[in-house]
Amino acid sequence: LLSVRDLTVSFPQPGGGRVTVVQGVSLDVGKGEILGLVGESGSGKSVTAMSLLGLVPDPGRVAASTVRLDGRELTGLPFDELRKVRGRELGVVFQEPIASLNPAYTVGDQVAEVLREHDGLSRAQARERVVELFEQVHIPNPADRLGDYPHQFSGGMAQRVMIAMALACRPRLLVADEPTTALDVTVQGQVLDLLLELREQTGMSILLITHDLGVVADVADRVAVMYAGQLVECGPTEEVFRKPSHPYTEGLLTSLP
Ligand code: ATP
Ligand code: MG
Repeated sequence: LLSVRDLTVSFPQPGGGRVTVVQGVSLDVGKGEILGLVGESGSGKSVTAMSLLGLVPDPGRVAASTVRLDGRELTGLPFDELRKVRGRELGVVFQEPIASLNPAYTVGDQVAEVLREHDGLSRAQARERVVELFEQVHIPNPADRLGDYPHQFSGGMAQRVMIAMALACRPRLLVADEPTTALDVTVQGQVLDLLLELREQTGMSILLITHDLGVVADVADRVAVMYAGQLVECGPTEEVFRKPSHPYTEGLLTSLP
């Protein structure tokens, strides 16, 4: 579904010049596949994920690389086109669910806004669809929660809202950047179970970024390991866990409980 070739991203340095933080990364995510992207803090996981579809954080720059979604070349598309593809085909979930929501609007309005923008639904239709989406992510009493503000949700419930929002345009690929890191262990498990369930239901692919190898072991079909901006290992989760080929991965694995 997604194919990335030779992704290189650099940022300007304060003293002048540029520093390359992602170097020559190539990876594929198959249809319905969950690819775990792991690596230590600062290794370039978020920049990689965000650069895939033109979300590269300002003032970063992506060097010649190819990104294809379902065979369609995305590199070089004008920003507006990219934005459309992203809105239609890609959902994104971040680490801090409550901070990712706008505190000034109800969660119902925020999800409805996404629907109105992408599907052109009327207000009433959008409301109905938000209730359906909240049901899909197992938010209890969804109709009663539409008028609540983000701070009225627990971290786990807020992450469900974010996932509902990401699902609003029925994405083929969900990019989840540390979606469970800010949650306590029980809730982490629930959110991961939800992701697995949604993958079953919708057949969407998931790029799951995490520094937690336990999470990867639980849900990822394949794992890609980043180290200092480069992809040092990529393969089926079981194989990589059984027989890591890079010393960094070996080190990571010995730190597992
Ligand atoms: P973490 O696990 O902490 O989230 P990460 O693997 O996601 O780490 P990235 O956020 O991808 O790491 O960052 C990779 C490198 O790129 C870091 O050295 C970071 O300082 C740098 N970087 C990221 N965004 C910017 C930016 N907007 N401007 C300059 N440098 C940046
Ligand atoms: Mg990150």
